[in-house]
Amino acid sequence: MIAELISVGTELLLGNTVNTNAAFLAEKCALLGLSIYYQTTVGDNEERLAETIQTAFKRSDVVILSGGLGPTKDDLTKEVTAKVMGMPLKEDKHTRERIEAYFKNSRSKTVTENNWKQALVPEGSKVVDNKNGTAPGLIMEKNGKVAILLPGPPNELIPMFNNDIFPYLNSIQPETIYSAMVKICGLGESLVETQIADLIEKQTNPTIAPYAKVGEVHLRVTAKAKDEKEAKKMVKPVVKELKERFGKNVYAAEENVTLEDTVIGLLKEKELTLTTVESCTGGLLAARLTKVPGVSEVFKQGLITYSNKAKRKLLDVKKSTLKEYGAISDKTAKEMAKNGAFITGADICVSITGIAGPDEVEEKPVGLVYIGCCYKNEVTVKEYHFNGERNKIREWAAVNALILLRECILEK
Ligand code: AMP
Ligand code: MG
Repeated sequence: MIAELISVGTELLLGNTVNTNAAFLAEKCALLGLSIYYQTTVGDNEERLAETIQTAFKRSDVVILSGGLGPTKDDLTKEVTAKVMGMPLKEDKHTRERIEAYFKNSRSKTVTENNWKQALVPEGSKVVDNKNGTAPGLIMEKNGKVAILLPGPPNELIPMFNNDIFPYLNSIQPETIYSAMVKICGLGESLVETQIADLIEKQTNPTIAPYAKVGEVHLRVTAKAKDEKEAKKMVKPVVKELKERFGKNVYAAEENVTLEDTVIGLLKEKELTLTTVESCTGGLLAARLTKVPGVSEVFKQGLITYSNKAKRKLLDVKKSTLKEYGAISDKTAKEMAKNGAFITGADICVSITGIAGPDEVEEKPVGLVYIGCCYKNEVTVKEYHFNGERNKIREWAAVNALILLRECILEK
């Protein structure tokens, strides 16, 4: 089945609002196995919107529109879609009551006459309640075509889609899809893609779609079949093949497992405690680790030793090391990790020192980062050269610290 997205709103055309709804909806459609060939953004203009909807119906089975369901005159999506599909509007009693209740419960807002416009729905359409706003969602079916109308605010659209529209679309899809995720760390996107070029080239069903993240590549394997059991069976050998090809770089084969989850899991499994000592990342690594529930079992403490003075005072980094090699050096990273483990009594200590920019430090280039990992008194230090602006470099450093930490635990 072919689906198409239409984002409605002049604010999107002007760049005042970033079109996050389109990205969200497109990803969900892919997950549902719907093919998307076109996405259009159109302003709040009756004629152009009508033309866009007509064009969409010529080439797609399902047209998903977002935005333009508000109470004001420039919100036209429902009116125009109803006209194009020949489904006249009439008041929906249930929606009127829901809007009344919504305003009764929200003290700060007063209902205005134009709010009742939102209780008008195309005759024969399915009304989808909006739990976070007044405009209802609508499912309009006619002559084998479907229009789905969703409110623009993401906090209204996302839960409505997840709760009601996703199951609806799944039910009208003749095929079931099933997908699994293989998560890889420590390898770049192009390297990963090269290693599976043969698989991607011959793929039809299941398909493999790579998603590049900072320091990670996720491969989504999706199969379409007549039922879920069949689809799962088709996905299985592909996942196995990917795991074999990427070996220990695969840290998870589950959608909801993050890199930090895996690292914390390993520490728990091996009953190891951890300390982090960070400079340029300013606690990013500790923040990622402490996102994981139950981390307190293994995480001792995180120090941010930003200045040389702090590195000296809290981590006992030698004055001569700082003077001779500088704060951004493998020697400093090594002492930070080793002394951090000793001082805090942790089994493992990870250290990060580097230059996030924008200015050079110690006449060394922006993006130079040293990450150390002390485990059983033995320290591994790696040198990295990251590209990008300040925050990207900090993110890259934090994720690579997780990767190095994982490597050290697995190898030793
Ligand atoms: P509307 O339903 O057109 O009245 O939109 C209400 C608000 O939702 C807009 O002011 C935007 O802030 C937001 N919005 C509308 N469309 C989108 C979109 N495609 N992506 C993200 N936010 C949106
Ligand atoms: Mg609008």
